[in-house]
Amino acid sequence: MLEISNLRSRYGRIEVLKGISLDVQTGEVVALIGSNGAGKTTLLHALSGVQPISDGQVTFLGERIDGLPAHRRVARGILQSPEGRQIFGPLTVEDNLRLGAYLRRDKDIAEDRDRIFGMFPILAEKRNQIAGGLSGGQQQMLAIGRALMGKPKLLLLDEPSLGLSPLLVDQILAAIVSLRALGMTVLLVEQNAMAALEIADRGYVIETGHIVHAGPASQLLSDPKVKAAYLGLE
Ligand code: ATP
Repeated sequence: MLEISNLRSRYGRIEVLKGISLDVQTGEVVALIGSNGAGKTTLLHALSGVQPISDGQVTFLGERIDGLPAHRRVARGILQSPEGRQIFGPLTVEDNLRLGAYLRRDKDIAEDRDRIFGMFPILAEKRNQIAGGLSGGQQQMLAIGRALMGKPKLLLLDEPSLGLSPLLVDQILAAIVSLRALGMTVLLVEQNAMAALEIADRGYVIETGHIVHAGPASQLLSDPKVKAAYLGLE
């Protein structure tokens, strides 16, 4: 579905993505893990089109997309749930979801909203409340729900577990697993490497702008180097 080859990107004179190659196949959950500042968010921004690239190619469903502006990538089905959630605080839960569907012209919007309410019942309960009043975990659910309302083919999730209690992290991860069961394809960026690899099919480890490990998630979880550096295990 997605193929990135030799992608480079910089902020001014500082190159932060130094030739990244990775792929995501339809129906997979692929985890991109790595420490603070490794380049994970920059890579997602380069995919969604808000961060310019200086070299390399991105192919999505067989077509080059690296020259397209962000809104055309959204129209093709690449949607991102951003780090820090960035929901619209003064609007209600339901209006936030409706905004996620602003590019759609089909008639299934209410049905999709109800499916999201089924996945995150707390959002249904609070549908008429102001989104800014939700807890961190609920806002994260709303951010994912809003991205889903755009009917993504590929969902980019940036640190969905950030700042959440272990119980809420589990709920968010369970939601990602259930999305995969429905056929969704997900590129999941996480600093919480253990949590991400436990649910992912495959993983990539990024370090200062390079991919340094890649493979099936189960293999990365048992790799001694990955364990020592990213999983806090000996
Ligand atoms: P985090 O989990 O902290 O978001 P990350 O792996 O997502 O880490 P990036 O946010 O992609 O890392 O940042 C990669 C590098 O680029 C870091 O060294 C960061 O300081 C730098 N950087 C990020 N955004 C900018 C910017 N707008 N201008 C200049 N440098 C930036």
